[in-house]
Amino acid sequence: MVFSSVIGLSALIAAGAHHGAWPHGWPLAAQVALGLLTAEFAAYWAHRFAHEWPWLWDFHAIHHGVTRLWCVNSGRFHFVDALKSVLPGVAILALAGAPAEVMAWLSALTGYIGLMTHTNAAMRFGPLSFVFNTPELHRWHHSMKLSEGNRNYGENLSVWDLLFGTYFNEARRPPARSGVREALPTRLSGQLAYPFHRFAGRMAARRALRQP
Ligand SMILES: [Zn+2]
Repeated sequence: MVFSSVIGLSALIAAGAHHGAWPHGWPLAAQVALGLLTAEFAAYWAHRFAHEWPWLWDFHAIHHGVTRLWCVNSGRFHFVDALKSVLPGVAILALAGAPAEVMAWLSALTGYIGLMTHTNAAMRFGPLSFVFNTPELHRWHHSMKLSEGNRNYGENLSVWDLLFGTYFNEARRPPARSGVREALPTRLSGQLAYPFHRFAGRMAARRALRQP
């Protein structure tokens, strides 16, 4: 829902902005491919930082908290985490002057690929995994083992993982169980408050360390 709202908003901005460096003369498919590559670059780093920076991980941990993948998990994000993932990419595209049609295609593709990658199916996708994020790649990403889970950050594409050295896909079966090591609250209200409580705890610990 957050994703669709932000995409919708950015489409409105882009519709009124005929400036920017966007190649409006290209065929639509090429514009969508360019939009996807650009948005994925931002989404890749937003996702990677969410795994590597503890205060961002506390928000993203909510998404990784499920013990089994199924397609509904594709919408299970803390709202701060969702905004952090989507806003940078759509802001870049809107500023570049990408048309509403491209934004709509990106929204549809992201929704479809998100449902696919979180589906609970053990499938092999062969060479497709070298271009797109697939259920095969994303099962590794949801592994509790950090050497497997801190990989495959692409939301729709795997090309940035290949380029930045975080692509991971081995010939053995990916883990069927996913999850996180920390104990997360089970209620929605607790999960929404969890990252803020953790942040307050970190700040208190830092203050205590500074005291003589
Ligand atoms: Zn993740």
